[in-house]
Amino acid sequence: SPCEVEEEIDVLYQNVPEISSHFTILEKIGEGAFSSVFLARLKHYPEVSEMFALKHILPTTHPARIENELRCLLKLGGQDNVMGVKLCLRNKDNVVIVMDYFPHEKFQEVLSLMSTDEARDYMRNLLIALKRIHQYKVIHRDVKPSNFLYNRQKKQYALVDFGLASGNFLIDRDGEKIGRKNASPKSCTAPSSSNAACVPLSPSKANINQSNRVNPSLNKGSVSIPLPSLPKRQPSFAVPSCSAKAFLERSGLCDCLGKPQICSLCVARKNQLAPRAGTAGFRAPEVLLKSPVQDTAVDIWSAGTIFLSVLSARYPFFRAQDDLGYLAQIISVVGSAACVDAAKSFGKALTLSESLPALDLRTTCLKLRSTQMSARLGPSDTGHQLSDLVHSWSNISQEAFHLLGRMLDPNPGTRITAEEALKHPYFTECGL
Ligand code: ADP
Ligand code: MG
Repeated sequence: SPCEVEEEIDVLYQNVPEISSHFTILEKIGEGAFSSVFLARLKHYPEVSEMFALKHILPTTHPARIENELRCLLKLGGQDNVMGVKLCLRNKDNVVIVMDYFPHEKFQEVLSLMSTDEARDYMRNLLIALKRIHQYKVIHRDVKPSNFLYNRQKKQYALVDFGLASGNFLIDRDGEKIGRKNASPKSCTAPSSSNAACVPLSPSKANINQSNRVNPSLNKGSVSIPLPSLPKRQPSFAVPSCSAKAFLERSGLCDCLGKPQICSLCVARKNQLAPRAGTAGFRAPEVLLKSPVQDTAVDIWSAGTIFLSVLSARYPFFRAQDDLGYLAQIISVVGSAACVDAAKSFGKALTLSESLPALDLRTTCLKLRSTQMSARLGPSDTGHQLSDLVHSWSNISQEAFHLLGRMLDPNPGTRITAEEALKHPYFTECGL
């Protein structure tokens, strides 16, 4: 409510008094999990019409997160569609990042109105931003529409929110973060030193006490199971004289494989450590499957998910209860064989209850989009506009769907990079 916002603004003035000596806060324009964003003008220069966005980072935020965000904005921002920083104000644990105000649309609201040309411009500009940060080996980790601001009228774009970014010149918080107590019970267990597959159980199962834990292979639908940790079986493992327990211990295999309960061996194992920062629905398969090695390809997957929304006018595209649910939805789009192979490429064995073919992306997206467009535009007064739009989409180049498939490659090792994607015929054909 307006009252609450006014109070929030007052509290901010109190917490960071320096703000009131430079700025007049006009309104609140955004709120995320870690911050509130306000619109402001310069106080003592009424002739300056430029406005600013003040991002107040919640005081409970880890200092490393704040430092990383600032480092990214400073080093990478201000060009190639990456947001820059003007100033940073701090008072004790309150940090305010001052940026240029970037007026933008709500992604959901422009989605069904986008023409094919607009869709291509949008994707090209997103990839330009990703190419910029990936050149510095920075992974954004939270690529999604609310972090990629779009000004439709001015055709301007800005990648924001580096709070989860990781990269060479950033502080590594992973050990500290994953080690948190509440992070572990969700997961089935595997030796931390190994690459044994380990997939978190659904949150609803997370509280079941360990001895009663259900083997994930019994979950309905698509699942994965704890698996061999060693790349190749060594001959000694086949020696029949060693006990079954010793054999299992050495090979990293669980004897609960395919059974309704997790064995004591698996329960005793340490968690697989792997970063999983990001937003549900945009996480790449290697993140969902807890691959300990992750790189800039995770951002390309997220951008591919945005592309899927752009082409289908459906947002969010993936919607599920937990990581396995998301994985199942991904599998139903890209097919089971590709996912099983991809998992294998980063050392995880993925076992599925059934095999599914990949969807035809063109048919799927255009079918969804035509429903969305007619619902949004209506047949009456905007009939003309609608038929033009429907016509342009039915003729969209096949290259769009080829690129989409390359971005939604479940294997991070073969997934297209931002630099390669910008050279894709989707962007270069027709003398563009
Ligand atoms: P969080 O880490 O809390 O998600 P973000 O940096 O993503 O914070 O900002 C939250 C929201 O505030 C964004 O989704 C956007 O709507 C708005 N916002 C952020 N930066 C700007 C800006 N420079 N100009 C205009 N709006 C912004
Ligand atoms: Mg955000």
